[in-house]
Amino acid sequence: MKIKGIGFDIDGTLYNNCFMYLCTIPSFLKHPRLVYHYSRARTEIRKIRPIDNFRRTQAELVASSMKVDGHRVRTLIETKLYEDWERSFRIIHPFDGLQEGISGLRTDGYKLGVLSDFPVQNKLKFLGLEDWDCSFTSESTNYLKPHPEPFLELAARLELQPEEILYVGNSYEKDVLGAAAVGMKTAHLSSRRRGDTVADFTFSSFPELFEYIKKMN
Ligand SMILES: [Mg+2]
Repeated sequence: MKIKGIGFDIDGTLYNNCFMYLCTIPSFLKHPRLVYHYSRARTEIRKIRPIDNFRRTQAELVASSMKVDGHRVRTLIETKLYEDWERSFRIIHPFDGLQEGISGLRTDGYKLGVLSDFPVQNKLKFLGLEDWDCSFTSESTNYLKPHPEPFLELAARLELQPEEILYVGNSYEKDVLGAAAVGMKTAHLSSRRRGDTVADFTFSSFPELFEYIKKMN
C-alpha cells in the first residue's frame, strides 16, 4: 500500500538526544527525588491498563512511591517538571537537513504528524518545526507508546489507515514495535541495524530517510 502520511517521534528523532539529557539536568538537580520517582512511574504506567485519566494515575504512582499526597504531587509534576522542561528546551535545534526535508514532504503532498510521549508544542516551536497536520502527546490518549492507542489516534488525526503511514522514531521498543503492531510501516533512526529488526528501514541520517521515502513511492 502507498504511503500517504508520515509520523515522527520528537525526542532523539527530530533533535539529538544529548540535548534532552542536557535540558533535564537543571530539574534533576533542583528536584532529584521528584525526577527519580517520576521516571520510575513512567516505567510503571506503561504496564497498566485500563487508565481513564493519565495525569491523575501518573500522579498517584509518583505519590505512592514518594509516600506523599497525590494532589500536591500532580501540581509539582506539572509546574516543576513539565513547565521547567518546556522552558529549558529553548536550546534544542533539529538534525541537519530536517527542516528542508520536511518541507519537501509537504510539497510532495504527504500528511505529516508528530506523536511524542511528552508535551509537544514548545519543543516544536523551539525546533522551528510547526507546520504539521497534527501534533500531540500520547498522554492525551491515556497510554504511552508502545501501546496501540497513541498510534491509532495518529492515524485517526491524519485521516489515514495505519498501513498508509510511515512512523519514524529512535526507540526500537516504543516507536518501531508500537507502530508496527498497529500495521504502520516503520523507519528506525539508529546508527546500528539490529539483526532481529522488524523496522522496514533503518537509517542514521535524514537525507537517507528522505531518499528512501522518494524511492518507496
Ligand atoms: Mg524518542
